Amino acid sequence: MTDPKKHIKTKFIFVTGGVVSSLGKGLASASIGALLESRGLTITLQKLDPYINVDPGTMSPFQHGEVFVTDDGAETDLDLGHYERFTNARLSRRNNFTTGQIYDSIITKERRGDYLGCTVQVVPHVTDEIKGKILSISNGVDVAIIEVGGTVGDIESLPFLEAIRQLRFDLGKENVLYIHLTLLPFIATAQEMKTKPTQHSVNKLREIGIQPDILLCRCDRPLTSELKGKIALFCNVERDAVISAEDVKCVYEVPLVFHREGLDDKIIKLLNIWTRAPKLEQWEELIKKVNSLRGEVTIGIVGKYVNLQDSYKSLHEALIHGGIANNCAVNLIYIDSEEIEKKGAAQVLKNVDGVLIPGGFGSRGVEGKIAAIRYLRENKVPFFGICLGMQVAIIEMARDLCGLKDADSSEFNPDTTAPVVDIMETQRGINAKGGTMRLGAYPCVIKKGSRAHAAYGSTEISERHRHRYEVNNVYRQTLEKAGVEFSGLSPDESLVEIMEFRHHPWFVACQFHPEFKSRPLSPHPLFRGFVKAVMAHKAQARKGRAGKGGKKASSSAPRKNSRKQTRSDEADKG
Ligand code: GLN
Repeated sequence: MTDPKKHIKTKFIFVTGGVVSSLGKGLASASIGALLESRGLTITLQKLDPYINVDPGTMSPFQHGEVFVTDDGAETDLDLGHYERFTNARLSRRNNFTTGQIYDSIITKERRGDYLGCTVQVVPHVTDEIKGKILSISNGVDVAIIEVGGTVGDIESLPFLEAIRQLRFDLGKENVLYIHLTLLPFIATAQEMKTKPTQHSVNKLREIGIQPDILLCRCDRPLTSELKGKIALFCNVERDAVISAEDVKCVYEVPLVFHREGLDDKIIKLLNIWTRAPKLEQWEELIKKVNSLRGEVTIGIVGKYVNLQDSYKSLHEALIHGGIANNCAVNLIYIDSEEIEKKGAAQVLKNVDGVLIPGGFGSRGVEGKIAAIRYLRENKVPFFGICLGMQVAIIEMARDLCGLKDADSSEFNPDTTAPVVDIMETQRGINAKGGTMRLGAYPCVIKKGSRAHAAYGSTEISERHRHRYEVNNVYRQTLEKAGVEFSGLSPDESLVEIMEFRHHPWFVACQFHPEFKSRPLSPHPLFRGFVKAVMAHKAQARKGRAGKGGKKASSSAPRKNSRKQTRSDEADKG
């Protein structure tokens, strides 16, 4: 194991969760990061995931939610998205690890003979491996915030908890802090908030030797001072370390709520850090803005993971950011593309002001997306395509504008005579699924005068990718003749990164995932541009209706999906 004394300059905060999952540990950790940064401290964050997959890249979005991609091409937990949105920390593959990775490296070492003569055991070998990974991220930062996935009491997370327990011994009491996020349910029949689940969950932690220093209590109404006193007494924490984490309307309010509760003061006191007073003006201004948005638009997200909105976490946030940048509230409607196949695009999309088609895998619902794009193109409704969304737009235009009736992606139809979207040359022959897509940040050169150029205000950008298929260069000229503009290319021009359709107010699609780089305090240019176009479209449609009595909708009926379902891809068999 790495020598802990080398890292002694960094202080470690461990965030655990109890009672139930989904209490917002990721948001809480990110908000703590934001508060510490506002005091001038440098921070980093890390997520420990107890499952055995090496990373979430091979899981279905229905299982795990979004897979967040870092610049260095790691497929990570969606909590890293929260960390990057709330803080300035730049994260990489070292900021997320799983039980699978721990065991993978231990077994490799064992086979190599690194433990020759030893029986390899959970304590100390697994816990040492975990501690090594935790200590490796400190890298000179003032504070490292480590979120332990799962809920206290789960079998899977025990080695992680044992490792963080040991770290307080290794690093010293004033260098390690335990924060536990718990739930205080309000029981309607008793008209009371109950502390028992919190007591049990803290007891569970204490049984394994961890006494939390601070409790973040999730509740749907303010925590009375009497109740705080009771929790402090029963859970053995100081009174001012019981923090009320009341529900908020907007997640970006969490750092401010925590600050008002005295959380950052308590943290620096317990960790014995001297800092300047927090500068929270930018968060306060953001919330003021969020609370006084003037306009309102409705954007449809046409995809297939619509029942689990965590699948589109970063996208959801990026659209909200785009709205804030335009002083406009964005209502998001998640639309199952198969519904479009059944009812027709005109019917399903009649009440939205713009549509975003996000990334995805497999052929299910693709024909519905194609029908949606045709409707949007013909009716000049703003369209934003991301990754699969761009590939589907290429198919739609190849079929309708270039006369290539059989146009398709070889992902959905390997036998198509017009593979306008095809597997990358470098992907051919790759059979292993984990971590083998085109992943991470790649540069892109933008054509001057394009909509993308207007949005970015720059010709050189870098964005993150996660896909295997690309626009097939063989069809580039044919598509260009039909009005498609390839406004963003890889520097050697071999890969299409952004496409636009000229004869349209806003029809922009990209091969990368811009949503990963949008921040509430600096909204992504493409999302800002898209929402602006959606607002203009809504205003014009309203004017049109007032003048002529309604806008004309195209008759684009969905095509029947007659093709056999091909390989349902990657992680999603749904
Ligand atoms: N399935 C497509 C590919 O692999 C798109 C992936 C995505 O949208 N992230 O290329």
